[in-house]
Amino acid sequence: MLDALFKPKSVAIIGASNNPLSIGHIVLQNLLDHNFKGPIYPINPKSKYIKSFRAYPSVTDIPDEVDLVNISIKNTLVPLVLEECGKKGVKFAIVHTAGFKEVGEEGLKLEKQIVKIAHKYGMRIYGPNSQGIQNSDPEVSVYANFTFVPMSPGNISIVAQSGGVGETLKLHLYRIGKGIRMYSSFGNEADVSMNEIIDYYGQDEDTKVIMVHIETLKDPAGFLEVANRVTPKKPILALKTGKTSEGTKAVASHTGSLIEQETIADVIFKKSGVLRFHSQEDMIDAAVAFSNQPVPKGDRVVIVTNTGGPAIIAVDECISAGLKLAELSSQTKEILGKLVFQEAIVSNPVDVVATAGPEQYGGTVEALLKDPNIDSLLLVFVTAPFVDCEGIARKLGEIGKASDKPIVCQVITIEKWAEVIRLIRESGIPVYDFAETAARVLSAMTEYGKITQRKAPSFKKFEIDKSKAESVLSRHKGKDKFIPQDDVFKILQCYGIPTVTTTRIDKEDELEKAIQKLKYPLVLKVDAESIIHKTEVGGVAVNIKDKASLQAAFKKMARKFEKQKPGFILQEYLEGGKEVILGAKRNEGLQPTLMFGLGGIFVETLKDVQFRMAPLSEEDALEMIRSIKGYAILEGTRGEKAVDINRLIEILIRLSQLVSDFPEIDEMDLNPVFAFEKSKETVVVDARLKIVGA
Ligand code: ADP
Ligand code: MG
Repeated sequence: MLDALFKPKSVAIIGASNNPLSIGHIVLQNLLDHNFKGPIYPINPKSKYIKSFRAYPSVTDIPDEVDLVNISIKNTLVPLVLEECGKKGVKFAIVHTAGFKEVGEEGLKLEKQIVKIAHKYGMRIYGPNSQGIQNSDPEVSVYANFTFVPMSPGNISIVAQSGGVGETLKLHLYRIGKGIRMYSSFGNEADVSMNEIIDYYGQDEDTKVIMVHIETLKDPAGFLEVANRVTPKKPILALKTGKTSEGTKAVASHTGSLIEQETIADVIFKKSGVLRFHSQEDMIDAAVAFSNQPVPKGDRVVIVTNTGGPAIIAVDECISAGLKLAELSSQTKEILGKLVFQEAIVSNPVDVVATAGPEQYGGTVEALLKDPNIDSLLLVFVTAPFVDCEGIARKLGEIGKASDKPIVCQVITIEKWAEVIRLIRESGIPVYDFAETAARVLSAMTEYGKITQRKAPSFKKFEIDKSKAESVLSRHKGKDKFIPQDDVFKILQCYGIPTVTTTRIDKEDELEKAIQKLKYPLVLKVDAESIIHKTEVGGVAVNIKDKASLQAAFKKMARKFEKQKPGFILQEYLEGGKEVILGAKRNEGLQPTLMFGLGGIFVETLKDVQFRMAPLSEEDALEMIRSIKGYAILEGTRGEKAVDINRLIEILIRLSQLVSDFPEIDEMDLNPVFAFEKSKETVVVDARLKIVGA
C-alpha cells in the first residue's frame, strides 16, 4: 500500500535550506507552489526558519505525525537520519541523495544498509538517487519532487525509470495543456519498486492511462503479474529503452542468438497486454487519446476530411497499421447524400470538401457515429478561411463530448485559429499535426480494444509420455551441454513431435545395416557435440541417390572430420517442404520463450521470427505464425499449396508443453522443421537441445 507515499498527510524535508539552489529548498517550494494540503516541516539543525516555516533540528522534534520525508543530505548521513525517521514512525522516505548503488560496491553497501534500517522500523525507502513523486489529486496536491514542470490535475499517471524521460513526458503534456494524475521516478529501486507503483496506479480510480518508461525490468515475473492484473482495467503504455548485454551471453543455438532482453520485454508485454511504443512522442500521442476517448470496439475506421491529400495519407497509414476501412451503411450514405454538397464524396474516406460548414462537416460526423459498421473516426480538418471554422470546431466539440466511439483529429491551421484547436481539444478529441500520428494512435487504441476483449486463453494439453522423456534427459543431467541429436529426437517423439526417419551410426561398416531401414534418396550428416552448424563445415550431404554415392560421401566426410571422432546421421531426404524454425529458451524466473519463423540455414540473416511466452494457447501460436513477414510463403504463393498451419500450431504447443515441463532445458532449436501441405506429415529434420546442469 503506497497511500502514505502518494497521499501523505504531512511531509518533512530533511535538508531543507534557504539556499534556492538546494534540492531541499526546491522541494519545499514545489510543495508550496502546488498548495500541498498538509503541514510541511523543514528539518535543518542550523536554521530556525526556512522561508516562512519554522524549522526543526530533527524529525524527532516534530510534535505531530509525519507520513513522508524527503531526504537530500549527504549520502553518508542518510543512515543516521533514517534511524531518527524510523523512531518517529515515518512511513516513507524519498531519498533524493545520490551516491549509492550507481557508484559501485561501496554505494551498494550503503544502499543495503539504509533499506535495512528502514525495514527495522516498518518504513519504506523510495529511491535512493530518485526524483520523487507527485499527485495532483486536489485533496492532496503533493509535489514532493525537485523538478520544474508545473502540475495540474489529469488522469494520466506516469512512472519513469529515467527522471529525464519522465520530465520529458510531463513537459510535453503540460505544453498541450494536459494534466497528469500521479508521477514518479523511482531511482535505484532499492525498496519501493516500479511494479508496486504500477499496481498502485492500477488501483487508483482516477488514473485512466498509465505511462511507463523502463530501462531494465528488475523483476520481470513481478511485472508480468501486475500488468496482467492492470491491463484489463486500463491501458499500460510502455517505452522500453536501452539494450542490455544480458542476451548477448555466448549462445550457440539460433533461438539463443536471436533472443535478447528486448525480446523478453516484448514477450512479457504481449503476454500481459501492455502496449509497447518505440518513441516518447508516439507514447504521449496515444496517452492523450486514451485519456479522453472511449476504446474502439473493433478495427473499422472511417476517415472524414475537407481536403484530399492528407486523407489519402491517413488511409495508407491506417491500412499499414492494421486497421480496416469501414464500409458505410446504405442508411448513412443516404443521410450524407442529402447533407453534403454535390462535389462531396460519400464513401470512405468521406470528403465533405473545403466549403463544408458546421452543418455539413458536423452533420457528417454525427451520422457516421451512428453507423454500426464504424468503430472509430479519424478527422482531417483544414481551417479553410472561407468557412466558419470555429463553428465547425464548436460542433465537433459538442459531438466529441457525447461520442461513444473514439475520434482523433488532424488540424491543419495557424495560430490565428488557436481557438479551433482549443475547442476541439476541450471536448476530449485529441488534435495532432499529422494524419499519420492520428492513424497510429487509433491503431494503438484498437489494439487495446482487442486486448480488453481477449477471451481467457484455452491451453490445450496433448497426450505425451513425460516419464520416458524424463528418463532420456536424465542420462545427461549434471552439466551444461548439448545432448546428442538422436536423444533429442527421442524426447521430441515422447511429446508427439514427428521427426524425419533417422539412424545414427559410428562407423562405416554399420552403413549396410542402417540403410535397410531407410529409403533413398538419403542425407548424410556429421554428428558431434563440437560441431554446431553442420552445413557451415561441409557436414551435410543431401539428396544421395544410391549406395555408391552414399559410400563415397561417407568416406569423404569421415576423412574430413577424422579429428573430431564424430558419429554420423543418415536421414531420408525430404523434397518440396517449407523450412521453418521452432525454438525455445528458458527465462530465469519466468516461463520459457517460444520462437517461430522461417527456418533453414538463413535464419539469422532473415531474422523473420516471432516470440511468445509459454504456455502457448492456440491463439498465441496462430498469431506467431501469422505475424512473420514470410507468412505468405506458408500460405502458398505462385500456385503452391498452403502448408498445414494447424499442424504447426499443434507442434508449437507441444514444444511449449515440453520446455515448460523440464526447467533443465535451457535452449532448443528445431531447425529446420519441414512443413508440408495437409496430406503429408510435418517433420523435424535437425534439432538441438541444451540442458543446464545444476
Ligand atoms: P545444420 O543446421 O547443422 O547446418 P541441418 O541438418 O539443419 O544442418 O541441415 C542443413 C540444411 O540441409 C537444411 O536447412 C535443409 O535445407 C537441408 N537438409 C538437411 N536434412 C535434410 C533432409 N533430411 N531432407 C531435406 N533437406 C535436408
Ligand atoms: Mg539446422
